[in-house]
Amino acid sequence: MVSDGAAPPSSPDRPLRVAVIGAGPAGIFTADALTQQTDVPVQIDLVDRLPTPFGLVRHGIAPDHAKMRAIRETLHRSLDHPSLRFVGNVEIGVDLALEDLRAHVDAVVYTYGAALDRKLGIPGEDLPGSLAATELVAWYCGHPDADRERVESALAAARSVVVVGVGNVALDVGRVLARTPEELESTDMPQHVLDALAAAPVEQVTILGRRGPAQASFTTQELRELGAMAGATVLVDPADLELDPDSEERAAADRVVSRNLGVLRGWVENAPEPDRIPLRLRFFSRPARLLGEGRVTGLEVERTAVDGDGRAVGTGEVEVLPADLVVRSVGYRGSALPGLPIDERSGTVPHDGTGRVLRDGQLSGGEYVAGWIKRGPSGVVGTNKADARETVAALLADATAGVLRVGGPADDLVSTLQARGAEPVLLEDWRAIDAAEIELGATRGRARTTLHEREALLAAVRAAARR
Ligand SMILES: Cc1cc2nc3c(=O)[nH]c(=O)nc-3n(C[C@H](O)[C@H](O)[C@H](O)COP(=O)(O)OP(=O)(O)OC[C@H]3O[C@@H](n4cnc5c(N)ncnc54)[C@H](O)[C@@H]3O)c2cc1C
Repeated sequence: MVSDGAAPPSSPDRPLRVAVIGAGPAGIFTADALTQQTDVPVQIDLVDRLPTPFGLVRHGIAPDHAKMRAIRETLHRSLDHPSLRFVGNVEIGVDLALEDLRAHVDAVVYTYGAALDRKLGIPGEDLPGSLAATELVAWYCGHPDADRERVESALAAARSVVVVGVGNVALDVGRVLARTPEELESTDMPQHVLDALAAAPVEQVTILGRRGPAQASFTTQELRELGAMAGATVLVDPADLELDPDSEERAAADRVVSRNLGVLRGWVENAPEPDRIPLRLRFFSRPARLLGEGRVTGLEVERTAVDGDGRAVGTGEVEVLPADLVVRSVGYRGSALPGLPIDERSGTVPHDGTGRVLRDGQLSGGEYVAGWIKRGPSGVVGTNKADARETVAALLADATAGVLRVGGPADDLVSTLQARGAEPVLLEDWRAIDAAEIELGATRGRARTTLHEREALLAAVRAAARR
């Protein structure tokens, strides 16, 4: 039971017990900031609904970005701290209600990310052959919840692909679909993903921006990478690079925009080449509807212009692009955990600006938020570090001020979960999964092969327990 009394100062015998919900970068940085300070003795349960830690570092960052994905090694080290317990395979709100969790700990930090996709809101969006980037990314990264059949049947017919969106995720998707099998061989993608990508009949990829190149949100490094692909040639229409005065101003004021324009201008002379996939970057094109009966066959787009406020305005000029696969990549969105408020507009948990959760506009003692579910889905992995530190500073200030309520007397979260029939995956269990993935990779000369199905992940845990 949660007591109403103020918490006594935590001590090594009775450390402050904190549950962190979500073991992505924000959760791990939060746990790390808590374990790296010495003012308040802490004991942390880092809970994740998956049997594996790392969130989007495992299931989002493109598998062909080996250097970026290597950040998991740094995150991994944080998990080893003796005051930290990884509790995977436990979904808060499903395996354990928030209210019940709060009875076990003195404070909760929500770091459960923003996993939903945003929709285009146009006709035909639900046709087979229309996917959200979230679905495709989850699939190629081997997320246990990915709908293999849906994605693989869409890919099997994908000759002409249109990716809607001009952020880094759209570039990831376009790049992965246009890569040669040899380029992907060294990644940690599940074997069936590699096989399905190799068999996909992709002949052309178009990446579509509603506004102009000066308004695109991709970064220069990601953009430049498209020009170095083994089997694809980037094509850009020079007319798309003629800027209106506002966009010129934007380019002059923003180094990323001017660098991006420089990279794009370097491609205007490119022409389609035999045996190479044309990868078109097309701007000023707003999707109007997906065409097809039974499955997608095309995408109707309207030509746009950018107004003085940087918004896309339709010109009435309409064109149909052939498309067997349309992938929308127009952003991620957070959702509510059962029992937790959400701001529906921003898809974030309301907080006081430093990470203290607000319920009905009032501070809710002992509840904090960090990462994408605090700020919204933007920023790189490292952005979550400063964000997590800010939240931890608020939590520690409250602990020191004695305003946290005290959770139950015993450290019994894991035993409670087990008694309820849950199968928590602890750090040594995750190590067994890690070892099984490395072993599987070695069978094909790869550093690692991701285990995709939840059952395969849990089987690795059980096999290690029997040894
Ligand atoms: C496709 C894609 C590619 C990206 N590529 C890059 C890149 O190359 N470089 C870069 O720096 N950044 C990249 N990012 C951004 C980076 O991944 C994010 O900044 C970061 O992952 C956000 O961290 P987070 O911890 O808030 O959320 P997440 O990483 O999403 O972690 C949230 C965790 O919470 C868990 N969870 C959810 N619900 C529950 C629940 N009810 N109970 C328990 N656990 C739960 C999830 O399983 C997950 O592990 C990319 C993002 C995406 C989407």
